[in-house]
Amino acid sequence: MFLVDKIRADFPILEREVNGKPLVYFDNAATSQTPKVVIDSIVDYYTNYNANIHRGVHALSQEATDKYEESRLKVQKHFNAKHSYEIIFTSGTTHGINIVASGFSEILKVGDEVLVSALEHHSNIVPWQMLCEKTGAILKVIPMNEEGGLVMDEYKNLLSTNTKLVFCNHISNALGTINPIKEMIDYAHNVGAAVLIDGAQSAPHIKVDLQALDVDFFVASAHKMCGPTGVGFLYGKQEWLEKLPPYQGGGEMIETVTFKKTTYAGLPHKFEAGTPNICGGIAFGTALDYLNEIGLENIAQYEQELLEYGTKKLLEFENLKIYGTTKEKTSVISFNIEGIHPYDVGVILDKLGIAVRTGHHCAQPIMDFYQIPGTIRASFAFYNTKEEIDCMVEGLKKAIHMLS
Ligand SMILES: *Cc1c(COP(=O)(O)O)cnc(C)c1O
Repeated sequence: MFLVDKIRADFPILEREVNGKPLVYFDNAATSQTPKVVIDSIVDYYTNYNANIHRGVHALSQEATDKYEESRLKVQKHFNAKHSYEIIFTSGTTHGINIVASGFSEILKVGDEVLVSALEHHSNIVPWQMLCEKTGAILKVIPMNEEGGLVMDEYKNLLSTNTKLVFCNHISNALGTINPIKEMIDYAHNVGAAVLIDGAQSAPHIKVDLQALDVDFFVASAHKMCGPTGVGFLYGKQEWLEKLPPYQGGGEMIETVTFKKTTYAGLPHKFEAGTPNICGGIAFGTALDYLNEIGLENIAQYEQELLEYGTKKLLEFENLKIYGTTKEKTSVISFNIEGIHPYDVGVILDKLGIAVRTGHHCAQPIMDFYQIPGTIRASFAFYNTKEEIDCMVEGLKKAIHMLS
């Protein structure tokens, strides 16, 4: 049985009030809340062993280095990468995508094709547009359908030997759609294309096995999986990471430096220029331990219950439309109420202490597809409850009453 009350006690922020009402936090797809163990690990770092890593011979530096590298092993193990040096610490998903996009600017040629899905977050669109402008490669879009899924037949038609790269999110942050990425990766490999999967929304909710997926690149952010902001990781298959040029020059990423010639450090340091977010990296490891203690399978199962309950409750409203209705989805409900602007609903819910997101969710092409300015998005995490969903439903009734 899933003991949600016990879990909620791990999150100090869930005790606070907003506008005199208990906080109902339904903006988990934007960032997750932080359990006390992760907060403690941040405090412990700055209280007890704050030091720069990989350079000092002194005790604090050794301790910090050991903990940081231990965290890399935790990420490797959790996501089942073959080697720990295939895990590059980044500042987050966006940073990881930019490392790969920038590296491919030296690989792609005029006329090469790259495929991007219609369901992407802006951070998995813009770096590729910049790449295509620089290289003369052509960006093609895998279209979506009314349910918010990708049109797989179109995807297969778009693939050819000209295709060099495919980018797709594992799960859409705007709609919750789980994309059939294993199938997509296999099809891309059949024509010799590499695949980057944006796992920002899958890493917090389902178990990801990088070797089973056989994916070439995978990126995620710690702050969406109970970790701190400003840290995440890029996974790349060894052969790809060796092929790509470094992203930034600086300390930590070199082997030798003279004014004549610099040689680069091996993996993973080649892509980790400068002092990293040491504390964040360590706390990310603590967050993974925390999630694994609960178990991602248990988390996924409970969140599906919340999704089903929330969907059923919302569909009881007459003029409410849910966007993103594929069978395979995570606990994100994007919706609108006829005749009411999503922003106005968000403001009223906030007055009641309920945090939802309104707007385009960094995925304007999806909003354009549905010809809407945005949606109201309630995204649930494993520390949310059905009672909180009831609370939102009452809030929506109030909002409809006030706004129509
Ligand atoms: C949040 C998110 C991003 C961006 O992550 P950052 O942590 O802001 O870099 C990219 N893609 C998806 C699907 C996301 O949900």
